[in-house]
Amino acid sequence: AGILNFCANNYLGLSSHPEVIRAAVEALEKFGAGLSSVRFICGTQSIHKDLEEKIARFHQREDAILYASCFDANAGIFEALLTPEDAVLSDELNHASIIDGIRLCKANKYRYKHMDMQDLEAKLQDAQVQRRLVATDGAFSMDGDIAPLREICQLAQKYDALVFIDECHATGFLGPNGRGTDELLGVMDKVTIINSTLGKALGGAAGGYTTGPKPLIDLLRQRSRPYLFSNSLPPAVVGCASKALDLLMESNAIAQSMAAKTQRFRSKMTAAGFTISGKDHPICPVMLGDARLAAVMAEDMLNRGIYVIGFSYPVVPKGKARIRVQISAVHSDEDIDRCVEAFTEVGRKHRALP
Ligand code: PLP
Repeated sequence: AGILNFCANNYLGLSSHPEVIRAAVEALEKFGAGLSSVRFICGTQSIHKDLEEKIARFHQREDAILYASCFDANAGIFEALLTPEDAVLSDELNHASIIDGIRLCKANKYRYKHMDMQDLEAKLQDAQVQRRLVATDGAFSMDGDIAPLREICQLAQKYDALVFIDECHATGFLGPNGRGTDELLGVMDKVTIINSTLGKALGGAAGGYTTGPKPLIDLLRQRSRPYLFSNSLPPAVVGCASKALDLLMESNAIAQSMAAKTQRFRSKMTAAGFTISGKDHPICPVMLGDARLAAVMAEDMLNRGIYVIGFSYPVVPKGKARIRVQISAVHSDEDIDRCVEAFTEVGRKHRALP
């Protein structure tokens, strides 16, 4: 009781939105608990097709394909798309699911230094192959930093490469209309493939997707193993995501409210003397350095009613331990201030602050 959650990916607070919950209940009642089938046998209902159409419209892409999770979307794309004659170039800090997806494909693999455009260009020059795909998180989940997509797209154009982005920590709230990192950085027409999740800002239930050119989506329906061989998304989950997208396409007010609270938290914490990694993103890593300090401070925060988690090696590099705070639209200004006050008290107690 009375504990405030500051460590969920529920950026827009939609997992508890009454309309999202009602949409799930209605879908459950109308379409049943589940399909007991993969999509291509008897696992496709009108709501699956409608959601795919809505996702494509939201991202202004030609088509979309649903998966049970974004982990599956990432596991299923590289192998389906790339041959041993191709190459994939991946940021070294990409999410584990991208790394695993790339492991499954037979393309030539290159790992470039985190957001290092010189290194990416060198690797693009090295990769003298038929087709090259640059793969990056749009927003990186550990640091809250944003991929330099303009520069990546320029390099991709120069070397005739495709660009893939994972938008799990961007869809629904980054950019003027919440479309994501590509909208924020003005490259919606240059990024070819987007993978994202329905399990964070878009209602928080589960599910993932790929959106992009129609021929690519058609290919995934034929070849992508997690799509072909895993159960179709349950109607209640489809109902949540579909309603979440409706709400976001109607108005950007929820995303704007989250952005204002993020700003409030970041500026108050910085004024209190903390170092917050990243910029303008609701992932606000409070950098502490020492793993034990991060753990004991997180524990003390919980004693003060604030639920946050310390991250240390091997989840983040040695010496870069932190408490990762995530802001949500459902936090009130008072909640944000309570969190900052608790951090200040706990920081002083453990000498993380003077
Ligand atoms: N990609 C990124 C960047 C993520 O942070 C996550 C989830 O943590 C995933 C992919 C996997 O998403 P899902 O939970 O839908 O499998």
